[in-house]
Amino acid sequence: MDTVNSNEQRRIAIIGGGPGGLTLALILQKHGIPAVIYEREQEDKSHERGGSLDIHEDSGQLALKEAGLYEAFQQAARYEGEDFRLMDKTGEIYIDEVADEDMSEGHHRPEIDRGTLCDLLLNKLDQSKIRYGYKLEKIVSLGAGKTELHFENGNVEVADLVIGADGAFSRVRPLLTDIDVEYSGLTMLELNVTADDHPDLAAFNSRGKMFALDDHKGILGQLNGDGRIKVYASFKVEQDWLDTIRNDKPQEMKAKLLELFHDWNESLQNYIRYAEDVILPRRIYMLPVGFRWERNSGVTLIGDAAHVMSPFAGEGVNLAMLDALELALALVRNKNTAEAIEEYEEKMFKYSSEKADESNQNLILCFSDHAAPNLANLMQSYHNKYEQQT
Ligand SMILES: Cc1cc2nc3c(=O)[nH]c(=O)nc-3n(C[C@H](O)[C@H](O)[C@H](O)COP(=O)(O)OP(=O)(O)OC[C@H]3O[C@@H](n4cnc5c(N)ncnc54)[C@H](O)[C@@H]3O)c2cc1C
Repeated sequence: MDTVNSNEQRRIAIIGGGPGGLTLALILQKHGIPAVIYEREQEDKSHERGGSLDIHEDSGQLALKEAGLYEAFQQAARYEGEDFRLMDKTGEIYIDEVADEDMSEGHHRPEIDRGTLCDLLLNKLDQSKIRYGYKLEKIVSLGAGKTELHFENGNVEVADLVIGADGAFSRVRPLLTDIDVEYSGLTMLELNVTADDHPDLAAFNSRGKMFALDDHKGILGQLNGDGRIKVYASFKVEQDWLDTIRNDKPQEMKAKLLELFHDWNESLQNYIRYAEDVILPRRIYMLPVGFRWERNSGVTLIGDAAHVMSPFAGEGVNLAMLDALELALALVRNKNTAEAIEEYEEKMFKYSSEKADESNQNLILCFSDHAAPNLANLMQSYHNKYEQQT
């Protein structure tokens, strides 16, 4: 089996141009290792996908440093976005953190909009290395570490190393395992409120995140850099609940949500009342905690494809970027592709299962009895631990 390819010879295919795939391609590019991204969309759609992301010091920020983007990130990041308010359905506040806007003052998780983050990465990438309109349909192992990629547009490519960075419903993952994502039991409806049009709600929300948790439900608000408050009305419900409501009738959906949150504080209900008429339903899926796969000498996964988890540890994008960093550096260190994959996967399986477990525990806590005071206690204990370490 010849998997000892030099970096110049090996054809590296990255499936998916989300934050994970883009970070990987950029770090490889920086080290002179060519790779091609195949992205299913016709153009970058990151601005339309989800809201603000907090980028952690020990993962996402490390990857940005390696990619040569840390200063640009600091310019674009919103340090005040670390404001955090936690309350119950009556509006009783359990945590009210106000972030220091001075960026030298201990900022561990500044916020950036997903679109802005992806623009930073994209602007530094050699554009000839991104193929848009390439949706992977089928992947076939040819043996000896080589893999054939069949795209919906009819193109077929062969690669020496395929990296699945194609998110929760990865088309690469089935080559490595029969295990698939499971519905976590949580459904979130994403709404948007224009903050300037509703100064009362903007003040209530603060400059960052507001979590209201009670009765096994949640209203989460998050101010984005584009002036919108992204709202996630969240609740535990059967997987097919969404099939019972009409996606094309936002007024009906809002009425249904107001019914669900009928005994919540008026300001919290305003997150739904004030919302615009585009509502995005999201079922939250996850891979089992501790998920891993049989090693393949020419195929691996990063980001959500490798370990999609609920967003309740705020780790998804950070892990995708950390995976990109770890895999890129393993490829720089090892000319032998199989050895690089082994080095990366052994490290990644360990840290990702720890975070998947944390995310799962947080999901359970946030939708159990007394969620707001219990989450406040947990966050206080993390805070104390961090203070002791520094
Ligand atoms: C509601 C919600 C809130 C979240 N909040 C946070 C948060 O606050 N903090 C955080 O860290 N994370 C958060 N996450 C998680 C975070 O969004 C993901 O973990 C992160 O986007 C994963 O990056 P990725 O590059 O692995 O995958 P993705 O961002 O999913 O990108 C995958 C890319 O692959 C492309 N693709 C898919 N299929 C194919 C195919 N067959 N062929 C070619 N291309 C394909 C897609 O078009 C996309 O561009 C949240 C997630 C949700 C749902």
